[in-house]
Amino acid sequence: MAARCMDRPFLLMQEQQSNPKKGKVYLVGAGPGDPGLITMRGRYLLEKAEVLVYDYLASKRLLRYVPANARFVYAGKRGGVKHTHTQEEINQMLVDFALEGKTVVRLKGGDPFIFGRGGEEVETLARNNIEFEVVPGVTSATAAATYAGIPITHRGYTASVAFITGHEDPTKESSNIDWSKIATGIGTIVVYMGIKNLPNIVSNLIDHGRSPDTPVAVVRWASTPEQKSVVGTLATIANIVADAGIKPPALIVIGEVVNLRDTIDWFEKRELFGKRIIVTRTREQASELVASLEENGASCYECATINIEPVEDYYILDEALERIDEYHWVLFTSLNGVKYFFRRLFEKGLDARDLKGPDIGVVGKSTADLLLEYGINADLIPPVFTGEGLAESLLDQGVEGRNVLIPRAVEGRELLPETLRGGGAQVTIAPIYQNVPPEGRRDELRAELESGEVDMVTFTSSSTVRNFLTMVDAADQEELERLMAGVNIAAIGPITAKTVTDSGLKVDVQPERHTIEAMVEEIIGFYHS
Ligand code: SAH
Repeated sequence: MAARCMDRPFLLMQEQQSNPKKGKVYLVGAGPGDPGLITMRGRYLLEKAEVLVYDYLASKRLLRYVPANARFVYAGKRGGVKHTHTQEEINQMLVDFALEGKTVVRLKGGDPFIFGRGGEEVETLARNNIEFEVVPGVTSATAAATYAGIPITHRGYTASVAFITGHEDPTKESSNIDWSKIATGIGTIVVYMGIKNLPNIVSNLIDHGRSPDTPVAVVRWASTPEQKSVVGTLATIANIVADAGIKPPALIVIGEVVNLRDTIDWFEKRELFGKRIIVTRTREQASELVASLEENGASCYECATINIEPVEDYYILDEALERIDEYHWVLFTSLNGVKYFFRRLFEKGLDARDLKGPDIGVVGKSTADLLLEYGINADLIPPVFTGEGLAESLLDQGVEGRNVLIPRAVEGRELLPETLRGGGAQVTIAPIYQNVPPEGRRDELRAELESGEVDMVTFTSSSTVRNFLTMVDAADQEELERLMAGVNIAAIGPITAKTVTDSGLKVDVQPERHTIEAMVEEIIGFYHS
């Protein structure tokens, strides 16, 4: 027995020496921009990454899948702009992380092996005996064409397609591209990295026999809400691109298939396409509104205006919980009210069974749904989902002499408690959480507003309005109006709208039903009326 115990540390040491954790590098295609276009394998690997080395073109939205304690390395590389790391440095970095035993994900825009220098990266890994795997991605050429409404091949138009780089100067003597063959030998031609050389590329194709009338589309930031596309012919496109100020990253799609765009265009036809919308929200709130707006084509800037934090001292709630059976009603006016109430209840070793005495009322359907998750079926949901609605429903039942407990935010509205007190109830307000404006995002928000590109700001509660104004931090009313000039405002309901108008701003969109779905419908209606 004793001998076996002594053996073990030795065995362990041996194992460790002969079998240290080996690092591995995964070259993963991020897809063209829309984060939904990464492969399932790619996403799985992001979730397993210990080190992430990512590019300028890889969607930043994919970073959320990487564990927060992973090491994030931005490798940069953006045509024409100073590179953050040279290609050699990146190659070496991948080797070094792998030698440290790390699981490394090298995330690259589009497909790693299509003009992505992925080949060079894995060559270096192979030379250094590092294990690797390559996960293909949706390349930007197919995405740009598809999202611009162009089928890259089509039986009636073309049987061949070529992907070429426009990076090299087509006027140079020893070009790697045989323009005479490309010009007339291929149906659809897609050019990567060709914006700077566009005038040379088109004249080269024309000089080598392609008709100047061949249709051409240029697509920038394909598959993202910022996508911009223009259409012309080989003869006209260079001027059109220059006039529209289109800069990289963009792709050039050349060929008769471009004509199909008139019929097939679907992405840019979505109802909120091109609209820039600031969505103010609490950090905890699910981004349902953002998802729905983006589904309809809007480009959203998510602005967390509120952090929800627990109060430092729960003494009022604690006292109420000691004699909870003396209460006739417990009322929840927000999701966070439910969440923080139960958090405290559990901390005190209690649970839903201890709430069998009082009836439970909620302000609306989602609060009722959340409550159900904690094992409680609400006794009262008002027909109108507001504090007023809840107050009225209770008054209808009669509250004379009733004990009512309202667990809620420190800075909640007084309407409900006051109305109930007016009806003869004893009301205890138990503040259990507070809204705190987050630090540090002010400059970003100001820059958004100063850019003049924002079409709308949405507010889903009075606190989002108040905290937005705190964050904007306008010197005076005049500055606020200047920043908000041309920016429409959507408010989810009458209370939120009133907080907006009280600040001197105007509400343009206010749905009748106070739900995210109704709000999005109303926003679409607003832009199409
Ligand atoms: N490996 C990448 C290409 C990298 S080369 C892929 O498979 O897509 C960089 C060039 O790709 C850019 O100059 C641009 O021409 C093109 N590109 C990448 N993403 C793009 C996007 N979202 N929209 C338009 N062009 C894009």
